[in-house]
Amino acid sequence: MVKFEEAEARLFHRMFVCKVCKSKQRAPVLKVKEGKIKCRKCGARKLRPVRKK
Ligand SMILES: [Zn+2]
Repeated sequence: MVKFEEAEARLFHRMFVCKVCKSKQRAPVLKVKEGKIKCRKCGARKLRPVRKK
């Protein structure tokens, strides 16, 4: 299952999921690590990178 690496990179690269409301948003990794990114829906700072299994 490596055929869609490019598509996956496009879809998942720098995408983060809010741990509270599960909404996705794109943000620079650095800013997320620094806690500067807030979920635009619920305002939570708990974001995690998008990962399929
Ligand atoms: Zn949220």
